[in-house]
Amino acid sequence: MDRLAATAVEKILAGERLSPMEALALWDLDLLLLGSLARRVRFRLHPERVVTFVSDRNINYTNICLSGCRFCAFYRPPGHPGGYVLSREELARKLAETRELGGTGILLQGGLHPDLPLSFYEDLVAFIRGYGLQVHGFSPPEIVFFAHQSGLGLKEVLRRLMAAGLTSIPGGGAEILCDGVRRLLSPGKATAAQWLQVMETAHRLGLRTTATMMFGHLETRAERTEHLLKLRELQDRTGGFTAFIPWTFQPGGTALGGEAVGAHEYLRTLAVSRLVLDNIPHLQVSWVTQGDKVAQVALEFGADDFGSTMIEENVVAATGVTFRLSREEIVRLISQAGYTPRQRDHLYRPVEGNIREARPAQASAGAFPPETPPEGAAAPQPPAGGERGNSACPPGTSAPWPPPDAIPVALIARVGAHRDFLDRGVEYEGSRLLTTPFGQANPVHVFRQGGLRFAVLSRHGEAGYEVSAPFVNDRANLYALKTLGVRRILAWCAPGAINPAMAPGHLVVPHDILDETTHGPYTFFPGRGPGFIRHQPVFCPSLRRALLAALEGCPFPVHDGGVYAATTGPRLETVAEIRKLKLLGGDLVGQTLVPEVFLARELELCYVALCYVVNFAEGVAPRPYQPGVLFEGLATEEETARVQAVEAAFGELALKLLPALATATEECFCSRLMERYRRRGDLGEDWRTWFP
Ligand code: SF4
Repeated sequence: MDRLAATAVEKILAGERLSPMEALALWDLDLLLLGSLARRVRFRLHPERVVTFVSDRNINYTNICLSGCRFCAFYRPPGHPGGYVLSREELARKLAETRELGGTGILLQGGLHPDLPLSFYEDLVAFIRGYGLQVHGFSPPEIVFFAHQSGLGLKEVLRRLMAAGLTSIPGGGAEILCDGVRRLLSPGKATAAQWLQVMETAHRLGLRTTATMMFGHLETRAERTEHLLKLRELQDRTGGFTAFIPWTFQPGGTALGGEAVGAHEYLRTLAVSRLVLDNIPHLQVSWVTQGDKVAQVALEFGADDFGSTMIEENVVAATGVTFRLSREEIVRLISQAGYTPRQRDHLYRPVEGNIREARPAQASAGAFPPETPPEGAAAPQPPAGGERGNSACPPGTSAPWPPPDAIPVALIARVGAHRDFLDRGVEYEGSRLLTTPFGQANPVHVFRQGGLRFAVLSRHGEAGYEVSAPFVNDRANLYALKTLGVRRILAWCAPGAINPAMAPGHLVVPHDILDETTHGPYTFFPGRGPGFIRHQPVFCPSLRRALLAALEGCPFPVHDGGVYAATTGPRLETVAEIRKLKLLGGDLVGQTLVPEVFLARELELCYVALCYVVNFAEGVAPRPYQPGVLFEGLATEEETARVQAVEAAFGELALKLLPALATATEECFCSRLMERYRRRGDLGEDWRTWFP
């Protein structure tokens, strides 16, 4: 082993990042050594022996394509008799079938068709979302093409597709991100820089994407390494890639021809990918090109995801390679390999049973080709019951509320909070993905401990910090919790201290709010009468008492009372702003409890907050500016260690506090805050009738 390769191995074992030269040196390592290193990294990133998969269908809306890629056996040039644009009728049939088979999404891609307007793609997305399916759609070359055709910028095209309901973007069309190779393979398609630019723009707009690499054709291993390094660099800046999927070129029926590389090279590339891409969370096997046996072996070479059930696949099939696996076979293959299979959605969120995300149908009378249903047949409609997620008690129905299996108490907390309970082995009932009249809620995870059912929702998303404070959909989150029967909420948050007595690592149960935010929305009833309600006390007094009692004996200092000053993030406040908040009576400053607490009150939920102080606010204690560290050095190392101790105790603490809150005596008016509007007839007795 040469010196660079030896250094690379040492660095991997120490959890350090590889330099470009060290990454290149990996290719010469023994295959089994590479596999064991990649496996080690996989378990460092995902300690559970779980392999995820998604149940979806590939739909190719057209095979007519101007690009003429030399590796592609799927496309037909414009005017070719074998060209097609999928009819709405055929699409509706495929969507209904996907739902029947338990699919949660559609991987939507197509050729670069010269005549379809942007509204065609918007309608396509909205139509699919109307069936309660996610749309993982349009690879970067398609987006570049749409922008070119429409005369709009990439950002505007992406915004319009997002508004239509696009869930995420697949990483197709990357091939090898080196223009020398691309010029030979696919001269009519997006350049490497354009591919990366689409992904960066999408990530900055909040869309998650995957990344792919098609290898084993004209490229060198050095070019594969360059491809990986370009992805790693972009991921460092945006954090928007969820997964990487390398797959091998299939030469059958293509202009390029040649031989497919074997399993040895596939596994080597997979392992190198895991080792270089230290910042992309998931690595997917490609059973569609490798077959089921190699896919099982790939789980020992760094992969943690089995990809899609692919109810339908056309592009690889066009080359003559037709591996097919049902959902049951995937589950069996993962289990046989010694892992627990877990179904996920296109955002890598767990899916339980047949739970699906849904949106109301939005198909417009736009440019989607009109179809006449067959004689005597009804026009395709979104399936009934799929428009409001899987709630046990769909809003607007006459089903009893709270539902018989109501979840009495919920925790709204930090990123990935549910993992604290998974790690502690708390009984897990699964997750709920609910779409509300106010949009998509974050996943709600349901646990059971000692007879108590409780829900956990991550306010800012479940990986990284997906949704910063002003952009959290508080209305959807609270509506979803209420739908599940939740009546009491513990809100966990991490403010800075204005009051120097509340030091980092201390807990505070605030008693009042000072709202200095400007973002909203602050009400469920914009432009209507309700919502004019008293906010004293703003936190539920019954829950405050129960919380303080349950915190007795807690190892961290606890403050009974404090004014939480809410500001609009995501930036931190200036010294002058903190001085102002102090003069106004603020003890803590943060960006999360408003408008959450106000909205909770409009839904007549008991709501209490528990703050753990993470730093002194700007100017409260002198702190030198340190670029590159958390909050640019606003907290010292010692303070950070104290905060980390609280974070480490979070799960245990919550398991003690939630039962106390669930059983607290109700001596509050929280459940009657909208009584005045009920009496006036502005609101019905059943809260589910309050929202159109
Ligand atoms: S790979 Fe995509 S862009 Fe290239 S020819 Fe095939 S359909 Fe067209």
